[in-house]
Amino acid sequence: MSDQFQGYQINKTDDGQSCELKQLSEADLMEGDVTYRVEYSTLNYKDGLALTGSSPVVRKFPLTPGIDSCGTVLSSDSGKFAVGDRVILNGFGVGEVHSGGFAQKARVNSDWLVKLPEGLEPRQAMAVGTAGYTAMLCVMALENHGIKQGDGDILVTGASGGVGSVAVTLLSKLGYRVVATTGRMAEKDFLKKLGAAEIKDRAEFTDKARPLNKELWAGAIDVAGGNTLANVISQIKYGGAVAACGLAESMSLPTTVAPFILRGIALYGIDSVMASIEKRQQAWNRIVKDLDMKLLDELSFDLDFTDLPQAGEDILAGKIRGRAVIKIPE
Ligand code: NDP
Repeated sequence: MSDQFQGYQINKTDDGQSCELKQLSEADLMEGDVTYRVEYSTLNYKDGLALTGSSPVVRKFPLTPGIDSCGTVLSSDSGKFAVGDRVILNGFGVGEVHSGGFAQKARVNSDWLVKLPEGLEPRQAMAVGTAGYTAMLCVMALENHGIKQGDGDILVTGASGGVGSVAVTLLSKLGYRVVATTGRMAEKDFLKKLGAAEIKDRAEFTDKARPLNKELWAGAIDVAGGNTLANVISQIKYGGAVAACGLAESMSLPTTVAPFILRGIALYGIDSVMASIEKRQQAWNRIVKDLDMKLLDELSFDLDFTDLPQAGEDILAGKIRGRAVIKIPE
C-alpha cells in the first residue's frame, strides 16, 4: 500500500470546523505502534457530532473521525499483534483526540486493540460496532445484577437506534421478554422481527417523572437520559436495575432518591470508551455467542464512504435505523 491514502479530515479555523475527504499521507497518521488497513467502519451518534461539528467531541486538529474500525495489520512494533492479524478498535478517544476509522489507514496504540474474535467477519464486527458492544455491556450489567429471564419484562429505550436495536436482539435471544420504546412507531414490524414482544411509543416517557410509578420492569437499558430515564427508573420493580449509556434525549436526570431507597433499585452507568481490554474481550466473545447474526444482517445496512457527511446529519436527526456499515474503498 502506498504512502498516500484516502481519508476524511476535520480541521478547525477561525471560521469554525470543517470536514473533507482528501488525500492523506503517512505523516497524517498519529502516534502508535500498530498500523492497519481499515477495511470496515461504522457510524455512531458521536461520529455524527464529530462530522457535523455540532458538539465539541473532536478536541485535536487536524483529525480523522471514526470511533470504530476493523482491519488488517500492515506493520507492528508490538509483540501483541503481527502483520496480517485482524483487529477491532472501539473508542479509547479515537475519533475524538486520535485519528480514527474514516480513512484507508489507521495507526494506534496496540493497548487499544482487540483481536477480531473467531467466528466474526470484519463486516459483522462493524455492524456491531461501539453501539452493539455497548448494548452487550448493558446486558452484562443487568445479568451481573442477577436479573433472570423469569423476573419480568426488560424495557429498552431508543429501540430503533444502534444500541437499542442490538440490545433488543441480544435480550430476546437470551430469553428475556423485551418491551421496546420508540419514537418511530412505523418501525414496529422491524422491532418485532428483532424479538421485541411489545412496542411502546416513547411519548409515554417524556413527561416529568413522578418519584415512584407502578412497578413494571425487572430491568431496563436506556439510551435517552432526561425525563425518559427518570420515568424508567420510577417504574423499575423492587430490586431491579437500569443500565444507562446514553443521552439521546438529555444529559439531565430529573429523578429523586425514592426508587433507590424505597425499592432498592440500582442504576449502572455504562461506558464503552475506556472499558478495559478484558471487559471488551468478554463482551466481544459474548457477541459471537449470543447475537443472532441473521438478525444482525437485518438491522444493518451498507453506507457509502462518500455519503458519510450526510449520514452524520441523519444520525443526529434520529433518521438512521439500526446500524450503518461502511466498506472502506481499497
Ligand atoms: P442512535 O442515534 O443510533 O440511536 C439513538 C436513538 O434514541 C434514536 O434512534 C431514537 O430511537 C432515540 N431517541 C432520539 N431522540 C430521542 C429523544 N429525544 N428521547 C428519547 N429517545 C430518543 O444512537 P446510538 O444508539 O449509537 O447511541 C445512543 C446513545 O448512547 C447516544 O446518546 C450515544 O451517545 C450513547 N452511547 C454511549 C456509549 C457509552 O459508552 N456510554 C456508547 C455508544 C453510544 P427511536 O427512534 O427508536 O425512539
